[in-house]
Amino acid sequence: MNYNNKKRTGSLISIQDSLVKARFYDNVIMGETAEISVEGKSLQAEVLQIDPDHKNTDAGIVEMQVFEDLTGAQIGDMVEFTGKPLSVLLGPGLLTSIWDGLQNPLYKLGEQDAYLIPGMRAPALDEEKLWEFTPSVKAGDVVKGGAAIGSVPEGRLEHKILVPFNLGKCKVESIIEKSSVNITETVAVLTDAQQIKHKLKLAFRWAVKSPIPFKERAIPSKTISTGVRVIDFLAPVSYGGTVGNPGPFGAGKTVLQHSLCKYALADIIIMAACGERAGEAVEVFKDFAELDDPSTGDSLMNRMCIFGNTSSMPVAAREASVFIALTVGEYYRYQGYNVVLLADSTSRWAQALRERSGRQGDIPGPEAFPMDIPDQIKGMYQRAGADKGTGGSLTFIGTVSPAGGNFQEPVTQASMDATGGFWGLSQDRADAKKYPAIDPLAYTTSVYDSFVSWTDRNKMLQTLMEANGIDQTISTIGLKKVPVDKYVLYQKGQTIDFCVMQQDAFHKLDACTRPDRLKVINEAVQKLIDSSIEFSRDGLEDEELKELVKTKFDELRQWWKDWNSSAQSEEEIAGLSKHIDQFILQED
Ligand code: ADP
Ligand code: MG
Repeated sequence: MNYNNKKRTGSLISIQDSLVKARFYDNVIMGETAEISVEGKSLQAEVLQIDPDHKNTDAGIVEMQVFEDLTGAQIGDMVEFTGKPLSVLLGPGLLTSIWDGLQNPLYKLGEQDAYLIPGMRAPALDEEKLWEFTPSVKAGDVVKGGAAIGSVPEGRLEHKILVPFNLGKCKVESIIEKSSVNITETVAVLTDAQQIKHKLKLAFRWAVKSPIPFKERAIPSKTISTGVRVIDFLAPVSYGGTVGNPGPFGAGKTVLQHSLCKYALADIIIMAACGERAGEAVEVFKDFAELDDPSTGDSLMNRMCIFGNTSSMPVAAREASVFIALTVGEYYRYQGYNVVLLADSTSRWAQALRERSGRQGDIPGPEAFPMDIPDQIKGMYQRAGADKGTGGSLTFIGTVSPAGGNFQEPVTQASMDATGGFWGLSQDRADAKKYPAIDPLAYTTSVYDSFVSWTDRNKMLQTLMEANGIDQTISTIGLKKVPVDKYVLYQKGQTIDFCVMQQDAFHKLDACTRPDRLKVINEAVQKLIDSSIEFSRDGLEDEELKELVKTKFDELRQWWKDWNSSAQSEEEIAGLSKHIDQFILQED
């Protein structure tokens, strides 16, 4: 996209929040980025629209969105077009990094100034760090885009050094021996079919709006152990799957995302904190550095990278941050890793689109979102997926924060259409402190396989549903009209809800349940559902009997809750099944 390396410039003619217009006399390309000089700083912008200049036929007018705070910008400020689309730097060192929404490393910026100042820049990846490069091809070999020419160890992972995906067949002209290099040094020279030479380094830039291809896209089929019981039983997600997670303010979306960060079994977790409170993001940075990766015992940050684009940063950068995070995810998927991308919140992302299209004067769709918001949301989720060719996957779990918890609004609806799994958080459950507040009965669906059979999963749901119905009967016409056997069914449902669906995200043991323990719990649940428990009447009236049933179930629930937070040895774990057997027989 470079025009003979000639500097192409323009000057600002209008400024409206993050949207600016500039007059230019050269060529400008749709989607290219530009640098706007404001008080000696250089701010990043992206070209959205190009129009003829009716006042000056030699010129054109370009409309751009600026990703950084424009305070101090003035009419006449200089714009320089870069010829390059918005891109992300891909290479070793991505893991453990914490960036803002434009891939500026926050720690490096922090060394420059305690406050983020617009226009501050630092290299996205450490340029001095040395990596132990081992070549896997030799001079004379033929390679093409996506092929590995070697690798470097990145923490526990083997980071493959790939030929940029847009290159066709190339001959390896030269490649260095095994040695320590940084990301600015050339490690190999390739020649393409047109005899053009390409110098490869450990890192390369890739346009964030061009999805990195799949080798062979496959249907997500292997269930992820997230550690969260209600998810793994009733609304599971597979490697490469997509989930929309809507919930009203304060219902627990962020706590759930943090749980997944800590406990979901994956090689890599990417967090895109998009438009949420800055304080939360700071907590994550502090907490996660001290936590261990559940599968390796390493520091949790070694499998993570974070884009912290909080509510205090410019809105336009939110759009960029989600695309940057997706591209990093695709890059690691191509290397064969299982990546989970958590975006909190996609509503804030959609709001950025809404603000932009509003300012551009587009005809608005429902609730002033752009008309094509469903397609944009679909497009985002479609970049997730499993790749049979590489063995890698990118799972995308996005929170949605609908105003007033109204799931009928456009972003929630579009997310529901675009995703394979849906975790609806309910205000009622959050108010009742039933955490995680995912409502097993409302809006909770999944196309992915659970850790238990469909029959067992449906029986569990059925029981919860019937118990819910009885609960409503009790609250409308009173307990008296409910027969004893129905009341027992109600108590069974209450027990499954309280002891299985609810889980303490902050308790060391209870916070995470792995598949082997799920199996034990499922057996207990199924036994309880299938049993006809004989409470001996001993001449009791119905009401007295119901009182007894409640006491007995209360005791069971208390026991089971304790088991959740204490049973660790094989014997203790097996104790659940024994306890349920005794309970069913009503033997003390
Ligand atoms: P949201 O992101 O949906 O606005 P948060 O995730 O910040 O909501 O949750 C709000 C509060 O609810 C938390 O600070 C915490 O006190 C409580 N909470 C949410 N989920 C859980 C959970 N799984 N276990 C215990 N407390 C929770
Ligand atoms: Mg939140």
